[in-house]
Amino acid sequence: MGRVRKPESYTNSIITPIYQNTAYYYDDHKTYVKALHEGSITKGRYGRYHNPNWEEVEGRLAQLDEAEDCLLFPSGMSAIYSTLMAFAKSQSCFATTCYLYKNTRRVFDNLEKLGFKTFILDNSDLSELMISLDQVSQDINLLFLEIPSNPHLYLADIEKIKKLLEPDTLLVVDSTFASPYNFKPCLWGADLVIHSCTKYLNGHADVVLGSVAGKKEAIDKIRNFRNINGVIPSPRDVFTLGQHLKTFKLRMESLNASGQKLTEFLNTHPLVSKVYYLGLDSHPHRELSKKYFTNGYGGVVTFELKLSKRETSELIDNLKIPYIASNFGSAETYIEQLAPFTYYYLSEEDRKSLNITDSLIRLSIGFNDPVDSIIDDIDCSLARYMATAIH
Ligand code: PLP
Repeated sequence: MGRVRKPESYTNSIITPIYQNTAYYYDDHKTYVKALHEGSITKGRYGRYHNPNWEEVEGRLAQLDEAEDCLLFPSGMSAIYSTLMAFAKSQSCFATTCYLYKNTRRVFDNLEKLGFKTFILDNSDLSELMISLDQVSQDINLLFLEIPSNPHLYLADIEKIKKLLEPDTLLVVDSTFASPYNFKPCLWGADLVIHSCTKYLNGHADVVLGSVAGKKEAIDKIRNFRNINGVIPSPRDVFTLGQHLKTFKLRMESLNASGQKLTEFLNTHPLVSKVYYLGLDSHPHRELSKKYFTNGYGGVVTFELKLSKRETSELIDNLKIPYIASNFGSAETYIEQLAPFTYYYLSEEDRKSLNITDSLIRLSIGFNDPVDSIIDDIDCSLARYMATAIH
């Protein structure tokens, strides 16, 4: 069949088509010499290095994070792992906090097993965190913070922290729980910001993807790691993310409003003992949330009931709207009792040390469910326990 000429006239398609391809051709010897030897032509070369769908969506994500550049990965976890490994060298020392997504904690446990030095710091108390960081700041090469942290939504004062770190220590922030609509860590001194795009950014529970954005020099180093190790996303998934990003702002506006309304209801309910939500004055890091968050506090709320473990499970089983599932930022509402679900693998003692109590619940509002109907559903289910609850 021979070389086929492409129909150039369709390059005016408004939506970038899916480039499901692995190779790109050069017209002749002169062109590839220029491209490869002099690096002066930036067009595609091979599917592990370049893809137009990645480049378009990476550009849009960099804009959302107000960062110089961005890279996509096939999951949030691969974005985290690749970022850490891209900067790892012998004797590297990594620090993070004890309250964070459980699989990120497992990555740090694995780094320790590989022989890297790691520090795990308590981030529940802001001043304690600053004191412990001060003690280790000279040793660490990379500090990884999850802001807000799962599931208690703790913050950290990254502007102050960046000043306390050595100039060449990299500050990496996983900001999945805020999304770039509500918080932009790169404007406050973070070198890199990571998102599980699986959550708010994609928002439709149909693709798993991750991103890392930040300073060009750091991103180029991670790109080199991605080029070599092949941790690349599917162009189809990236196309889907690109389509869903078009409604990102609208979805976040709705989730911010619903999150605030739901937590104000929960906060006054006699059977609710604690609500963790950064838009409420009762959250221990509320003051800091006013400094860093611009538009609102999202659709995820963690709360604790004055009920036993069994009653809490029963209450959730009786709800009509939320799916019992572990995800957030999508069209559907999700709920989970954290102790027997996400943290089932921990001993009671370990759960206690992480403040995962028996009746702790994480709820993620779905942007397709009116918040008043979620409130009614919870209110009705709680009503059964009003007479018998532990006070
Ligand atoms: N970071 C945070 C804060 C998360 O909650 C998650 C997943 O729940 C991840 C990273 C991992 O993302 P993914 O599931 O896209 O690999």
